[in-house]
Amino acid sequence: MSDRIREKLQILADAAKYDVSCSSSGSNRKNKDKGLGNTGSGICHSYTEDGRCVSLLKILFSNVCIFDCAYCVSRRSNDIQRAAFTVQEVVDLTINFYRRNYIEGLFLSSGIFKSADHTMERMLQVVKKLRLEENFNGYIHLKTIPGAAPELITEAGLYADRMSINLEMPTEAGLKRFAPEKTHAEVQKDLGIVRDRLIQLKDERQLIRSVPKFVPAGQTTQMVVGAANETDYDVMMMADHHYKEFKLKRVYYSGYIPINEQEKALPAIGSAPPLLRENRLYQSDWLMRFYGFSADEIVNPQHPNLDLDIDPKLSWALRHPEQFPVDLNQADYKMILRVPGIGVKSAKKIVQARRFGALRIDQLKRMGVAYSRAQHFIRCVDTPQFQRDLQPHQVRQQILQSGQSKYTKQISPQLGFGF
Ligand code: SF4
Repeated sequence: MSDRIREKLQILADAAKYDVSCSSSGSNRKNKDKGLGNTGSGICHSYTEDGRCVSLLKILFSNVCIFDCAYCVSRRSNDIQRAAFTVQEVVDLTINFYRRNYIEGLFLSSGIFKSADHTMERMLQVVKKLRLEENFNGYIHLKTIPGAAPELITEAGLYADRMSINLEMPTEAGLKRFAPEKTHAEVQKDLGIVRDRLIQLKDERQLIRSVPKFVPAGQTTQMVVGAANETDYDVMMMADHHYKEFKLKRVYYSGYIPINEQEKALPAIGSAPPLLRENRLYQSDWLMRFYGFSADEIVNPQHPNLDLDIDPKLSWALRHPEQFPVDLNQADYKMILRVPGIGVKSAKKIVQARRFGALRIDQLKRMGVAYSRAQHFIRCVDTPQFQRDLQPHQVRQQILQSGQSKYTKQISPQLGFGF
């Protein structure tokens, strides 16, 4: 690799690290024609300590940008070293790194240079070359450039496994303040283009099998949290709306990393990124997607921010003592899932096992139930009386004191949640 390419790589990989929406799950592109890569089984992802993905070649095409989003290191007013790859350079890097087993795919984003269409065209050329000329079947996550022509976006979707476009700020007011050249309406228009095409091609594929795949791993978005003074209620309602309206696979929450000392309204450089808050948001997101919670059960106008000391499921349970204790020998699956300390796997095991007889505490422990947390919220045949008499604030105190609030220690959203 030449020194110039190495230097570009350093600049453009460093600039890309702020985007966290790069999970590579969900693709099943087949390896065909003895091509390179097979996302069916070969792709996996790993994360750095702060939860950011490292398994893909994650770069910007260019960090030159005509926009001036205050929270972004690539903003035009920032005095940083600028660089841009050529299309062929990105293709060569991807293939070379893949052959050396350094990466399993590509995550390609970019600053907006010249215009949205000009940038999107270059990115489209990269993915087309990789797929059609290099026969690359590895995973590709492509960022949509806001405001690019619909034809470019839909064509890119034929070659990318996943596409994403960032909402950036959870509120329109925050976006207006820190990214005045962007609007949520524009991002939603682009999300809508991909959603509509996905639905259309899915329908067509039911009639004609040869209809090409389109963004098979779906689309995602990302919000920066902690830059403006948005509440967790603002963030979760925004996420909920976009899951429902645009059929998103994931919403990513990126704790703002202070990088701008000129903009006094942003958190000062040196202040820590809100990683614990970020983690609580991921836990809440998890509750919405896998535990049957609605967004407004987790946060609402009366309770607009997540409790940083305890996880959101425990927080909900403590606010709803009327729902507990849950009789594990009688309750339905949905209610069992809401018990702190019981995850999806153990809830399923409980429902299966109780067919053969009344459940006891030692069985629950063997099923993987975190009994030290769950004991305050359940009833089974041998539940001791004293556990039923505690008030919510006493339960909270007891859990915090015994260090059972495991998420105070764990900040990576990607490690999995056994609520
Ligand atoms: S458009 Fe994207 S790259 Fe450009 S300043 Fe805004 S967030 Fe940064």
